Amino acid sequence: MKFKGMGVSPGIVIGKAYVLNRETVKTETRVIAPERVDEEIRRFDQALAASVEQLEAVKKQFSDRVGASHAYILESHILMLQDTLLTDGVRDVIRRESIAAEGALKKVLDQFLAVFNGIEDDYLKERKTDMIHVGERILRNLSGHEQHSLAALDEDVIVVAHDLTPADTMQMDRKHVKGFVTDLGGKTSHTVIMARSLEIPAVVGMAHFTASVQTGDPLILNGNSGSVIVNPDSDTFNRYLEKQRRYIYFEKELQKLASLPAETLDGYKIRLAANIETPEDVCGVLEHGADGVGLFRTEFLYLNRTELPSEEDQFQAYKSALEMVYPETVIIRTLDLGGDKLARHIPYPGESNPSMGLRAIRFCLEHRGIFKTQLRALARAGIYGNLKIMFPMISGLRELRMAKEIYYDVLEELRKAGTLFHEEIPLGVMIEVPSAAIAVDLIVNEVDFVSIGTNDLIQYSLAIDRVNENVAYLYEPLHPAIMRMIKHVMTVAREGNIPAAMCGEVAGDPLYAAALMGLGLRTFSMNPVSVPRVKRIIRQVTLEESRKLAREILALSTAREIEEWTKERMRSLFPDEPEWEEEPEE
Ligand code: PEP
Ligand code: MG
Repeated sequence: MKFKGMGVSPGIVIGKAYVLNRETVKTETRVIAPERVDEEIRRFDQALAASVEQLEAVKKQFSDRVGASHAYILESHILMLQDTLLTDGVRDVIRRESIAAEGALKKVLDQFLAVFNGIEDDYLKERKTDMIHVGERILRNLSGHEQHSLAALDEDVIVVAHDLTPADTMQMDRKHVKGFVTDLGGKTSHTVIMARSLEIPAVVGMAHFTASVQTGDPLILNGNSGSVIVNPDSDTFNRYLEKQRRYIYFEKELQKLASLPAETLDGYKIRLAANIETPEDVCGVLEHGADGVGLFRTEFLYLNRTELPSEEDQFQAYKSALEMVYPETVIIRTLDLGGDKLARHIPYPGESNPSMGLRAIRFCLEHRGIFKTQLRALARAGIYGNLKIMFPMISGLRELRMAKEIYYDVLEELRKAGTLFHEEIPLGVMIEVPSAAIAVDLIVNEVDFVSIGTNDLIQYSLAIDRVNENVAYLYEPLHPAIMRMIKHVMTVAREGNIPAAMCGEVAGDPLYAAALMGLGLRTFSMNPVSVPRVKRIIRQVTLEESRKLAREILALSTAREIEEWTKERMRSLFPDEPEWEEEPEE
């Protein structure tokens, strides 16, 4: 039987299901004698300490395995365990109401969770899930229930769970966990981010799948198409075995491309840079053969911590990325906080539409102290490599000029203080607000480069909240309006003699590579694992073919027609490409 969900981490796996049974721990409210209150608080404190210890151990294990870069997620769970609102809150309830720790914890957690009720924001929903997971861990430690572990498996499995915590995912023994499927989950969940960084194929959003499968059932998971087959018949099994064999071969071949240039058959050189979130991600950049970093999303340095990162913290992070990537370039984007990326220690205005609110450069122009600290760290780090600075979410010249003015003030202050810094760091902007794309002719005169952020350009142009699953079907990267905007930005930048790159998710999708080249794109920036996938396409087409495809696309009228045409053309050019193979109906 075939089930359909969202393929969020690529790869094909055939194996046995391992259904994770997360029986919930009972939490009835138990009254205790007043003289037992201190003992009960001690029991709660021990459970807290055990929880922190377990998470620290997972964090260490994870950092050793894949680098510290994504351990910030576990860090956030540890911070929740240390949050005095929670810990003192529980101790107070135990003392005041003379009840056992389990009941007191449930009371305090319920109050916290009530705040999240009715909030539709995907990011905040994920934080609510984080809080539930943290609560469960303490409860299990209080009641002596075993913490289930995916670190101690002795055979190869595909994990099936209603939901997985980031900690579950981090612990996964890559030797034995070959893939996972969950009932819940969206494309932005932390668990999915982990799966991609661990390169474990995954399908999420499977509704009630866990109820249809038992441990030991044979499964086929296709992380490319998002399908999962339970108890396949022998024909299906053999077909997928062949598919999987081809996919494994394809991935091995991809790795060989790391050291080869991204050059079209007719000799045009294309730059394939990588997107990173922390300096540790640079390892993936080098491993996958990217040409430097085209987008360093610095806001991740600000999330999941209790205070703002200092100028020194930031200076060290930027310096280390620049040194590791040298002599290639690193484009560091200034803070893009707000929208769905909120830092705990910054008070945000309660906005009903945060992605159109005080986000990114608007936030920085309002909070100049925070902005200046970052700019100082950047200017100082600039002497350690090839740095370019990029401002996010610029909607027009006024914002750009204000940002530049603050930047030059910062340089003047550094000069006066006799601090060493780089005088000539190129400055650029993201083109991700439609007004900036349409009036890009005004912007190119005042910047050294631009980079198209398709994630937001699509969100704002097509009026679809990028984290709202109800309108996810309207996310159409090949919409004629988007195609025209990309072409316009490319043409105007070329005429203005400045480089124009693209760093949104669209740039990392091999299906779009030829069309984008045809529209004039010569510098792509993407998730490091996508670099060899896109390079493979570029090395097997001519620029002439790409231009023809772009001309054909621009003559079509709907996103659906463009998508179908692009697929057809790409399938005829690459008949064996496993990632855009059509799945036959079972
Ligand atoms: C974009 O909007 O395309 C982009 C690259 O920035 P972010 O995804 O960080 O908003
Ligand atoms: Mg953006």
